[in-house]
Amino acid sequence: MQLYNTLTRQVDTIEPLNAPAVTVYTCGPTVYDYAHIGHWFNYVRMDTLVRVLKLSGYQPQWVMNITDVGHLVSDADEGEDKLEKGAKREGKTAWEVADFYTQDFLHGMELLHISAPDHIVKATDHIAEQIELIQKLETKGYTYVISDGVYYDTSQFEGYAAFARLDLDGMQAGARVEYNREKRNPTDFALWKFSPPPDEGGKTRDMEWDSPWGKGFPGWHIECSAMSMKYLGETLDIHAGGIDHIPVHHTNEIAQSEAATGKRFANYWLHSNHVMVDGEKISKSLGNGIRLQEIIDKGISPEAVRLHVLESNYRSQSKFSMDSLQAAQNRLTNLRAMAVHRWQPNDGDATTPLGFLQANRDAIHVALQNDLDTPEALAVLSRLERGLDIRGINNTSQEAFIGLLEWLDAAFGLGLADVPDTSDEQKQLIAERQAARDTQDWAKSDQLRDELDAQGVLVRDTDSGPIWSWKK
Ligand SMILES: [Zn+2]
Repeated sequence: MQLYNTLTRQVDTIEPLNAPAVTVYTCGPTVYDYAHIGHWFNYVRMDTLVRVLKLSGYQPQWVMNITDVGHLVSDADEGEDKLEKGAKREGKTAWEVADFYTQDFLHGMELLHISAPDHIVKATDHIAEQIELIQKLETKGYTYVISDGVYYDTSQFEGYAAFARLDLDGMQAGARVEYNREKRNPTDFALWKFSPPPDEGGKTRDMEWDSPWGKGFPGWHIECSAMSMKYLGETLDIHAGGIDHIPVHHTNEIAQSEAATGKRFANYWLHSNHVMVDGEKISKSLGNGIRLQEIIDKGISPEAVRLHVLESNYRSQSKFSMDSLQAAQNRLTNLRAMAVHRWQPNDGDATTPLGFLQANRDAIHVALQNDLDTPEALAVLSRLERGLDIRGINNTSQEAFIGLLEWLDAAFGLGLADVPDTSDEQKQLIAERQAARDTQDWAKSDQLRDELDAQGVLVRDTDSGPIWSWKK
């Protein structure tokens, strides 16, 4: 299996340290607001990575974090903690905000059939591990303390600029006046931030902990290093996340982890590209960060959202619009129409050859193993669907076809094997309609077809008899 590796800037063959086990760490959400469609693209892609690893014989051990403290408004460690900001906005505590949006996120994961990671870990549940890692860095001389916290001295880490190919001199020269002048280098980042002085009501923050350096809270980056090492060891096979994490968050994760352990932090880095909504980047000011629930409320199924994500390559900038999502919904309807062949094998010779099923399954697998080429995999799936539409299946190929549907679900998570059969009453109506056609009673056959249509069942006539499918 091959993946484009941000570390080497080339497509590399995956060679896990302890195959068939593969350790996978993916950066999860900051739970201060609802996840939007851009986030969901990212998580469906991470899920696809894990699914393809499984289909390729590996045993992925997947850890995803929940950032519920310390992610400041600017990724470059300036401004307010997003959680505390969310708390003010909603008149709740930061703990309540974190809990609410964590639950909402987990619900979205379920709706989108995103596989459950082996561990979903919260930053606030791992304060001790983060403090321990900061102490390790302190002992090795990578930290310094200024008025608002403990910082990582990036100039001490040789190769800090390498991963993101940063131009440090340019950054130094171009550093904006507002940046914290107590920092030794513009790229230095907080490992531990001190709680601000209490306000008039004596309140500081909702979330704060004691530490060897004083009361405060961990910086955003340290959680991923501390938690990935706790659950998956000092060197990960695959670390994945959004492309915007490359220059700051992932660069800082590498600096912390490798300084602490002296070992390479991750062998493969996979990054999911941005999603453009109606041609624009998703931003708060444009208000174009559409939520999953808004999409579902428009009658689009979560499976169609998944399908739409898979229609673009994770490395390319993807386009999202409600029109393209509706097109994905229609494509899903066609795939569901393919899936219901399992309920209606013909007993004649007309059938899709088993070789055709196997060849398409193999071609899909090859595409997915080739750096998760989901657009190519879906193109093959469409060929499979059209081929089945012509020949259908018979009693001999039925079992193989059901096995194929289950395999496709393992790859794509589209629930094709779960598409239900018609009820006994609907089967009866289909049979009666056919009998009416046989006696050329067109009025009755039309009336029965309308009745079925009203129940969401479409019937079309083929050489091997009527074939039904669900309207959606
Ligand atoms: Zn992270």
